[in-house]
Amino acid sequence: MRCLLCNEPMTVPWTPATLWRRDWVCSSCETRLTPLGTGCPRCGQPNETGETCPDCIRWLALGLDLTVRCLYAYDEAGVEWLHRFKFSGDVVIASSVAQALRRLRSSGVTYVPVPLGEARLRERRFNQAEVLARSIGMTKNYLGKLDVSSQRELGKEERRHRTNPFTVPTSVKCGKIILVDDVYTTGTTLHQAAFSLRQAGATEVSAICLFRALNKSKTRPI
Ligand SMILES: [Zn+2]
Ligand SMILES: [Zn+2]
Repeated sequence: MRCLLCNEPMTVPWTPATLWRRDWVCSSCETRLTPLGTGCPRCGQPNETGETCPDCIRWLALGLDLTVRCLYAYDEAGVEWLHRFKFSGDVVIASSVAQALRRLRSSGVTYVPVPLGEARLRERRFNQAEVLARSIGMTKNYLGKLDVSSQRELGKEERRHRTNPFTVPTSVKCGKIILVDDVYTTGTTLHQAAFSLRQAGATEVSAICLFRALNKSKTRPI
C-alpha cells in the first residue's frame, strides 16, 4: 500500500474494509494540513476570542447573513495540496479530505458546488468544488456562472464590486442548501452565490469551504 499523497510505501491494518478503502494517507502527510482552531464562528478566520470578525460584521450590515464552516488554514501545505488537486488535476487526492468533510454532513440538505465559468471548466475539465461536494452528500448543480473576465485578472477592488455572476435556472426548487467551495478568501463569491440562491427561493443557505485564507490585516475592508 502506498500513501495517496506522497506515494511512499506504508503499512495499513488489514480488515475486510481495507479492500474498499483507497484513501490511505501516511502519518506524516495526515498532519500536514492545519485544522482551523478558535476563530470567527461565521467564517473561521482565526482569532483568540472566538468573536465574529470585522469582515463578517460588515457582511451582516449589508444584509448578507451566511455562516461558512472552513476546515483547514490555507497555509503553505494547503496551497500545495490545492495546487495539486486543482491545477494538476489530481482528483484522487480529494479522498484524503473526504472523511473530514463528511463529518460536517447534515440531513435534509442539498450540496451545491460553486460553479466555474464555462471557459474555466473547459480548461480544467472538472470543477474542484463539485468533487468536494460529492464527497459530502447529494449534490445538485443549481448554480450557473456567467463568463466574465477571470477573477484572478481583476484587481481586488474590482473583484469586490463586480456584479453577481451567479444565476439559478427558474425551474430549480431550492430548499435547504449548503454551498461548497475550495477556498474562502474575501467571501465575495460565497455571499454572491448565497444571495442568488435565496432570491431563487432557498429557505436556508450556509456553506462549507475546505480552506480559509488567513487575513494578514485585521482591518482589511470587504
Ligand atoms: Zn504520505
Ligand atoms: Zn468572520
